[in-house]
Amino acid sequence: MNVFERRGVRTVINAAGTVTRLSGGIMRSEVAAAMAESSSLCVEMTELEAHASEIIANVTGAEAGYITAGASAGLLLATAACLTGLDPSRMAKLPDTTGMKNEVIIAQGQRNGYDHAVRAAGGKLVEVGLADRLSGAGVRDVEGWEFAEAINEKTAAVFYVAGRNARPPLSEVVEVARQAGMPVIVDAAAELPPQSNLRRFIAEGADLVAFSGGKAIGGPQASGILCGRRDLVMSAALQHLDLDVLWDFWSPPASLIDKSRIKGLPRHGIGRSCKVGKEEIIGLLTALELFVAEGDAERHGRWLLAARKLVERLASLERVEVALTGASDVQQVPKVELRFARGAERAAARLIHALLDSSPPVHVDQTFIDRGVVTLDPVCLRPGEAEVIARVVLNHLR
Ligand SMILES: *Cc1c(COP(=O)(O)O)cnc(C)c1O
Repeated sequence: MNVFERRGVRTVINAAGTVTRLSGGIMRSEVAAAMAESSSLCVEMTELEAHASEIIANVTGAEAGYITAGASAGLLLATAACLTGLDPSRMAKLPDTTGMKNEVIIAQGQRNGYDHAVRAAGGKLVEVGLADRLSGAGVRDVEGWEFAEAINEKTAAVFYVAGRNARPPLSEVVEVARQAGMPVIVDAAAELPPQSNLRRFIAEGADLVAFSGGKAIGGPQASGILCGRRDLVMSAALQHLDLDVLWDFWSPPASLIDKSRIKGLPRHGIGRSCKVGKEEIIGLLTALELFVAEGDAERHGRWLLAARKLVERLASLERVEVALTGASDVQQVPKVELRFARGAERAAARLIHALLDSSPPVHVDQTFIDRGVVTLDPVCLRPGEAEVIARVVLNHLR
């Protein structure tokens, strides 16, 4: 019995990807071992985060970096940094923003559940544009000039959700924001692979970028990266670290926190509720180094092997088309789609139920169920699980 079964908790087969609901992905043994080793020792957290900052700066091309409790925590800290700057009394007030700039501009079509993090910090989202292309009512989305129009004396930041279909391009938003002296925060939580995206948004001029540590990077589920401008990362660190120490005894590494730039030590900030342990920091750094060393091609090859195994075993299916997507592009995650005939959403839904009812339960990606498509994501599959999934599918559809 495994550690979960001993407690009466079922383990599942995860063909849905690194989703939080299903506990994220599978960490490499090197990552777990580094976390275990770190757990037996004590360090100064500020020093550890300063070290992380250097590694993250190297990997992303940003001035500085910080390890957070996830991309969402990174967005909360990024927003807090833009709201307060380096002013400790403002930091103490959040999420109350009385007397501060607090508007954060976002394209209406980019609103999503995760922007709660911006609001939790005290940011007031101001929507711009109309995503006609998404509603089907037209061809346009938000345009650069609409961001420019919305910026006023209360604006604290511009928020941008990166994605294949994000409009307008980040570079256009950055240009408008730069002209007005506004920082741009980018949610790039799930934008890996391709690995090049670690550098891309910074290179395109973003001031702060948040990534998830527990998705493709393969770090601990409760970890993430925030990278960007040194002063903003410093502000994020000041609102996150435990600084319960007397000023005279406090000597943070200047690369992360330049003591001469603040008038006093902030109290526990808004970020205290999403603190990070040394285990997560060491785990994510280890995972990040492995992620970078592996490269897109090798990683894609590893996932493709599992996806091909599924395709081979499901090839005999009649009435359902078995398609392999993203197989020829190493920048994508290869996935297996079970495409039911048009209008067959009910059949697709029945398959999902059958998979969930099997033992162990099999979870799949339900994103395209309305098109009658059941998607199998290979990223979190363990050896032997592709075979189990194929067996359940064949049993159900025969
Ligand atoms: C996953 C995700 C998040 C949240 O990331 P966590 O690391 O789980 O906090 C935020 N935004 C987007 C777009 C995501 O896909």
